[in-house]
Amino acid sequence: MCHWRRVRNHYKRCGHYIDLPDVVIQCDDRNCKFSTTHPRNCVPPRCTETCWQYRQFPQQYNPVIDDYCPSCISRGAEPTGNSSKYS
Ligand SMILES: [Zn+2]
Ligand SMILES: [Zn+2]
Ligand SMILES: [Zn+2]
Repeated sequence: MCHWRRVRNHYKRCGHYIDLPDVVIQCDDRNCKFSTTHPRNCVPPRCTETCWQYRQFPQQYNPVIDDYCPSCISRGAEPTGNSSKYS
């Protein structure tokens, strides 16, 4: 079923955390109300019995980035270039 993904980057060089906007991870489960493969004719009350009606609790990701955060870089910290693979 679909779920939210919440990403908080941890910038190792300066120790700051940056929260990224939440994103919805789509599934292709027919039994999920939010899925693109969910049948259009599957409607309540049947849908509420057979299908997921809610998105799953957010998955938390806390990638550690060996670099300074963007605000430190804009204040003059020297970027290492290691953050590019996460963007
Ligand atoms: Zn889903
Ligand atoms: Zn349904
Ligand atoms: Zn910083």
